[in-house]
Amino acid sequence: MRFLKRSLLAVLLFSISFSSLAWWGVNGHRVTGEIADYYLTKKARKAIKEILGEESVAMSSNWADFIKSDSTYDYLYSWHYINSKGGMSHDEFTSKLLADTGTNLYTKTNFVISELKNNKQLSQEKKVLYLRLLIHFIGDLHQPLHAGGRPEDRGGNGIKVLWFNEPTNLHSIWDDRLVEFQKLSYTEFAKNINHVSRQQRLEWQNQPMTEWFYESYQVSQGLYADITQPDQKLGYDYNFKYAETLNKQLLKGGIRLAAVLNEIFG
Ligand SMILES: [Zn+2]
Repeated sequence: MRFLKRSLLAVLLFSISFSSLAWWGVNGHRVTGEIADYYLTKKARKAIKEILGEESVAMSSNWADFIKSDSTYDYLYSWHYINSKGGMSHDEFTSKLLADTGTNLYTKTNFVISELKNNKQLSQEKKVLYLRLLIHFIGDLHQPLHAGGRPEDRGGNGIKVLWFNEPTNLHSIWDDRLVEFQKLSYTEFAKNINHVSRQQRLEWQNQPMTEWFYESYQVSQGLYADITQPDQKLGYDYNFKYAETLNKQLLKGGIRLAAVLNEIFG
C-alpha cells in the first residue's frame, strides 16, 4: 500500500510538472495551423512549402513560443499580445486598436503580413521568421486573454485560480489547461471541430481583423467577470461553460489564418 501511494505520488508530481510546461498551448496553436492547412489554395500551399520546407503549418505554429527560451529573441516578447482595459464599447475598442502604433500583437501581425506580401527583397531567412510568426499570431489573437488582457494583471497571469485544485492562473487556463483537458491530439481536435458552412466561413474570413480582435475582447470580458474571489476553483463546470467557446475560437483562428495565407500567397 505504501509503495502504491508512493508511485501514485510520483505519477502525480510528474504530471503536474509536465503540464505546467505547456503553453494556446502547444496543441491549441497546432489546431489552428492544421485547420488553416485544410483551406489553403494549391498555390498558397506550394508557396508556403517553398518557405517552410517539410515543416507543416501546424508544427511551425509553436516556434514563436519555443524561442522564448533564447534571449536573442527577447524583442519579440511584446509582439504576442495587446493590452486592453475593461468595459470598452465596440467603437472605443476599435479606435484604440487602430490608434495604437506601438509594438503589439495587432501592429506586428499587420507588419509581418505586409512584409510577406509586399517586400520583394525579403531574404529567405526573414520569410521563414515572418511566416512562422504570422501563423502563431493569428492563433494568439483568438486566445481571448491575448487580445483582451488587462495590463494590471498581465493578461490574467496575475489572477490566481485553482484548476481542479491545482494552483494556476486565468491566463494559463486559456493558454493550455482547457485545451489539454479535452484530451485530443491536435489532429483529432482539428478534425472534430472543423465543421462550418461555406457561408459561415466566408463571413468569418471577410470581417476585418479589428473585428477578430474585438470578438476575442468580448470573450475576455466574460472571463474576467466570472472570477469573483481569490483562488476561485475552476473545473468541470468551467469546462462545460466554455468548451464551445474554446472550439469556436480555435476554428475561427484556423479559418482566418487560411484566408490571410491565401491572400498573401494565393
Ligand atoms: Zn504567443
